[in-house]
Amino acid sequence: MAEIVIRNLCKQFGAFTAVRSSSFKIEDGEFFMLLGPSGCGKTTTLRMIAGLELPTSGEIWIDGEEVGQKPASERDIAFVFQMFALYPHMNVRRNISYPLVSQGMPRSQVRARVGEIARILGIEGILDRPVGGLSGGDRQRVALGRAIVRNPKAFMMDEPLGALDAEFREHMSQELRALHDRMGATTVYVTHDQLEAMQMGDKIVVMNHGVVEQFGTPRDIYDKPATMFVADFIGSPAMNFLHFHGAVRPGADRVSVHHQALPIPAAREAFEGDIVYGVRPEFIRLSDSAGYRGRVRAAEYLGTTQIVTIETPNGEAKARIPSDQPARPGDMVGLAFEGATVTLFDAQSGRALR
Ligand code: ATP
Repeated sequence: MAEIVIRNLCKQFGAFTAVRSSSFKIEDGEFFMLLGPSGCGKTTTLRMIAGLELPTSGEIWIDGEEVGQKPASERDIAFVFQMFALYPHMNVRRNISYPLVSQGMPRSQVRARVGEIARILGIEGILDRPVGGLSGGDRQRVALGRAIVRNPKAFMMDEPLGALDAEFREHMSQELRALHDRMGATTVYVTHDQLEAMQMGDKIVVMNHGVVEQFGTPRDIYDKPATMFVADFIGSPAMNFLHFHGAVRPGADRVSVHHQALPIPAAREAFEGDIVYGVRPEFIRLSDSAGYRGRVRAAEYLGTTQIVTIETPNGEAKARIPSDQPARPGDMVGLAFEGATVTLFDAQSGRALR
């Protein structure tokens, strides 16, 4: 088990900076997600923690020891790749026992340990089968078995479910999370799928262009996005951004947008300039009595709810409302908001105003 602390971590490839002064802390036993779009530096960060890539500068602490410049072999970390490389000519038992046999563990101990791992993964019945003919899920379990059999301090997983189809992926992600909860080993997991990160992670780091945009629990990140990038990347449909020019007074719980006093969470800092009123689709209500109005452009039926696209004076907004509530293209509707669910951003820097 391991606590991992990352301090001001940087990685340059020639003149290109792939990771820029990242800092975050992974608690012992956490299921920790590195989330962001393609090329943002997730894999490079993971590889630096595992020791497969050395940092240009910064520190990596594992269990109180700074290991940034140490080779992978001295870190006791298991890496689970997307293209899990199994030995196709060996059976399941030999694939899983291979790391122990190559360490010189006595046969009886190897047998006992492999039996225990097979029980945890529910693959006792296929131990003597060759891996060549196994289904994708069973191959994934065998690959996990081989990674966990050594009982490493922590697991690094780089989009381990990326090659699976959607339905199976959902199933395996639940299985992985349940396995983690049984074993309790610190796990760092790379994904570009925000839903996967929200469902599986205890904590999430959101990265963009090599920079940590935010670090927190899924709830923190969803409810209190630190930047417009995070607000836009997490949630589907994404958070609405209504643009206006105005001022926020310290302690105010309203802000004037297009001649209406719209609710905001009580503000602490004063701000004047280009502001974005950020509100998630599920927190907009349509109400005849609301003074802030817009015209319905489209309604997309989703079963119990519908997504209604509304042209407002400050840009387009999507509202997720019950599908039995009438909203036809062309209708003028009032939009009602609740202050506690709103985030204001400085439009220029993209940072949340708190
Ligand atoms: P993806 O999901 O596409 O793998 P990622 O967030 O994991 O994206 P990284 O693989 O960490 O991103 O790459 C970050 C950036 O660093 C990319 O622009 C990539 O091209 C670059 N990069 C990664 N490895 C190297 C390398 N060995 N040499 C040069 N550039 C690299």
